[in-house]
Amino acid sequence: MRRATSRRLKGIGASPGIAQGTVYVVNAGLDAPPQFHLDQEAVPKELERFEAAVALSTRQIREIRDRLSGADGGEHLLILEAHLLMLNDAVFVEGVKSLVREETINAEWALRKTIERIRSMFEGLAHDYFRERGSDIDFVGERILRNLMGQAQVFAADDLPEDVVVVAHDLSPADTAQLTRFRVRGLITEAGSRTSHAAIVARSLDIPAVVGLPGMLQIAGTGDRIVIDGFTGEVILSPTAKQISTAKDSEQRARTKEKDAIRASLTPAHTKDGYKVSIFGNVELPLEADAVLSHGGEGVGLYRTEFLFVGRATTPTEEEHLQNYRDLARRLAGRPLTIRTLDLGGDKLFSTAHKVQERNPALGLRAIRLCLQQPELLRTQLRAILRVAAEFPVRLMLPMITDVSEIHSAKQLIRAEIQTLRAEGIEHSADVPVGIMVETPAAAIVSDLLAKEVDFFAIGTNDLIQYSLAIDRGNEHVAHMYRPLHPAILRLIAQTTEAASHAGISVCVCGEMAAEAIHTPVLLGLGITELSMNATAIPWVKKIVRDSSFTDCRRLVDELLMTCSPLEVEERLRAYLKVHHPELDG
Ligand code: PEP
Ligand code: MG
Repeated sequence: MRRATSRRLKGIGASPGIAQGTVYVVNAGLDAPPQFHLDQEAVPKELERFEAAVALSTRQIREIRDRLSGADGGEHLLILEAHLLMLNDAVFVEGVKSLVREETINAEWALRKTIERIRSMFEGLAHDYFRERGSDIDFVGERILRNLMGQAQVFAADDLPEDVVVVAHDLSPADTAQLTRFRVRGLITEAGSRTSHAAIVARSLDIPAVVGLPGMLQIAGTGDRIVIDGFTGEVILSPTAKQISTAKDSEQRARTKEKDAIRASLTPAHTKDGYKVSIFGNVELPLEADAVLSHGGEGVGLYRTEFLFVGRATTPTEEEHLQNYRDLARRLAGRPLTIRTLDLGGDKLFSTAHKVQERNPALGLRAIRLCLQQPELLRTQLRAILRVAAEFPVRLMLPMITDVSEIHSAKQLIRAEIQTLRAEGIEHSADVPVGIMVETPAAAIVSDLLAKEVDFFAIGTNDLIQYSLAIDRGNEHVAHMYRPLHPAILRLIAQTTEAASHAGISVCVCGEMAAEAIHTPVLLGLGITELSMNATAIPWVKKIVRDSSFTDCRRLVDELLMTCSPLEVEERLRAYLKVHHPELDG
């Protein structure tokens, strides 16, 4: 039904693009699952019922995956693969079955208990992405529950009208991926953040999306007209004719602009005064390298290898590491690849054998600390990196370094593995460049000492900001204090680039700050000529590089470094952008 007055709402812009259409409400509500105790003799039948629901869920997800795999190889396919792995995961499936057996409870109850336990292992992880992956288990669990209870899956029928903007509380990756079956123009969810599934999948499917809009289901109904802006997060419910026509124009303009930016991005980026700035991609999975290249990336500046551990109960073997790195390197076809050694946070992502309870995992046994404490974990990975480096241009990067001794210990392990590989007659590289992440204040402060020990630096601003400003990067209560332009951060980056330049080594920035075009002039002014970011940010950052002059950026940064408060720095930068990059204003 059409309503009389238009209404503006603001959520989080999660997938760029502007669209207008009619609302289609997807009600994903699930009836409360039954919970009861079983008689002992009912247990075998209950186990069979659970196995049948798991088998049906597997078939359903495979079907969705197969239907989509011809279209494009986006990130959503990998999420579906991860869900299939979970459905086959012995810890998960056996966990439910043993609860049914031991506690003589029905399968729905046992499933909910198991999900709760697994989810709590994901919560509290240092990395947003991993925390979000905790919801994978919810989505997989809900699918099995629906099958156990005989409830239809969301989008079970071919019933979605064309040209709609789907509005839901939240959508599982499998359901979001199904949107490609229909001509969906946009997606709005009440729940979620930029790193939630619906957002990730919408981005990879190129569907404009706004997430984090609580209460939307109470005010929007199927058939309402709607305009959605996935850049700003703005939504207009029941727009006026003028607002619709403005949205149509903007939609067209945004598409053309994006296409132009991607086209222009395929050549190298030089500043107006002739400095070359190298732009690389950050990847979590080999497949993502394709998107990096198609968006103009010149290689991979950060491969977060800890993602090899997601969705499995055992640690990967050397061959698994090697196949994975080869796959990625082949996709890059001779372009540089920086492999970061495991940055596992706390204990939760791999077998229970390594489990450690920590009160504060971000300050705990993370990354290089864990790897040096459990060298077998690192050794396996080092061997695979040394082997792939014999075939492709690969660099090795150590995360979370705080002092020189960690580099010495890691290098000792590398030397030992080189010797062993040599003795075994296995092809490898004996001179792979070794670098470190500068992502702790300690590392930045002693960067002059560290620079003498390594071949390159990569500044991880996500952690550098978290640890310098004492702001948990995943805590929404202090998110407003997470300020990349804090004078402390600018000084630490300046100190690091200076140390690198003295030692004659390269320095790249690979935290989120590198992906935010408004920060590009600041990073250039701080002396950064290598940036690494998610694929979709590459065209926009390259454009700002091309429109910048290094001299202007230096002048700007000289001023910023003399400025007292983050607020003043931000204001000064805003004034600069207004003049030099008016398209970034606001
Ligand atoms: C960083 O800390 O900025 C970084 C790039 O590493 P991660 O986000 O994986 O911790
Ligand atoms: Mg980090």
